[in-house]
Amino acid sequence: MDLSTIAYHKSEFKKLSDCTVNVATHALQYGTAVFGGVRGYYSKGMDNLLIFRIDRHFKRLHQSAKMMRMTPPLSEKEMANILIQVARFNNYRQNVYFRPFLYKAAEQLSPRFHDVKDEFSLYSLRLDDYLETNKGLSACVSSWRRIDDNIIPTRGKVSGGYANSGLAKSEAVENGYDEAIFLDLRGFVCEGSAENIFMVRDGVLVTPPVAASVLEGVTRRSVLELAKSEGIPVEERDIARAELYVADEVFFTGTGAQIAWVSSIDHRVIGTEVGPVTNKLRSRFLKCVLGEDSEFKQWVTPVYE
Ligand code: PMP
Repeated sequence: MDLSTIAYHKSEFKKLSDCTVNVATHALQYGTAVFGGVRGYYSKGMDNLLIFRIDRHFKRLHQSAKMMRMTPPLSEKEMANILIQVARFNNYRQNVYFRPFLYKAAEQLSPRFHDVKDEFSLYSLRLDDYLETNKGLSACVSSWRRIDDNIIPTRGKVSGGYANSGLAKSEAVENGYDEAIFLDLRGFVCEGSAENIFMVRDGVLVTPPVAASVLEGVTRRSVLELAKSEGIPVEERDIARAELYVADEVFFTGTGAQIAWVSSIDHRVIGTEVGPVTNKLRSRFLKCVLGEDSEFKQWVTPVYE
């Protein structure tokens, strides 16, 4: 992490190294923050940094805040504007990941949510691939179950809920896999540690419904819109674990992961090369993020005039 980059903290733009909080801060003690992850893609052709679906990301951040009884100090538009300004201050001309978040900023003991001051901060880092997107990933079904929406809301990005993701991710990697697949409390396929999941069976694209304790992923939504545009039939329905083993194709989606194909799950080979449906969606997605798709040009916001 480059601590000399300019970030936004306590209503000011300043060096990331100067963005500090007291150890007694509510969010640090209880994981009481909500966050987003937004990508900026550098287009060589346009010599511009393009922010992917900035409106959607800040809408979800506000929705996550609402679930957690937070009062955002800024509107969605104002937050989006701060992201653009941070990008400009850092004069980014490479792929970037932005991390906006709202956190319970009071230094106080009770884990309550009401009447605790909320602050907004945003930092960024250079990021190309988060997961390997060219080679197929090996995944395992986690021994950890996904937290349920009635335990910590899963359709929002709640910091404390990521203890669940961390347990699954470390278990997977330490056992030699690239990524974990969560089952929900009912035993149905849910999502990855930081990705939504899709499978293809007999030409149909299938993904668990948002009510199955999954995050309302911006990439998930985009892939569903792209599938519609490509005429690929889609089903949002529960997926059983063993159904994944016999899928024709499986892939993860996420701001970090983008579209990353899975080659094996629990030692069952899914594919030895990227599947045709995944490939079609992935190529189209990679055009979209660079502002090169005429149908979805509005998905990107240029940083520089
Ligand atoms: N699920 C979880 C648990 C995540 O952390 C993420 C990453 N934000 C996703 C899914 C994918 O969401 P998005 O496409 O909005 O990045």
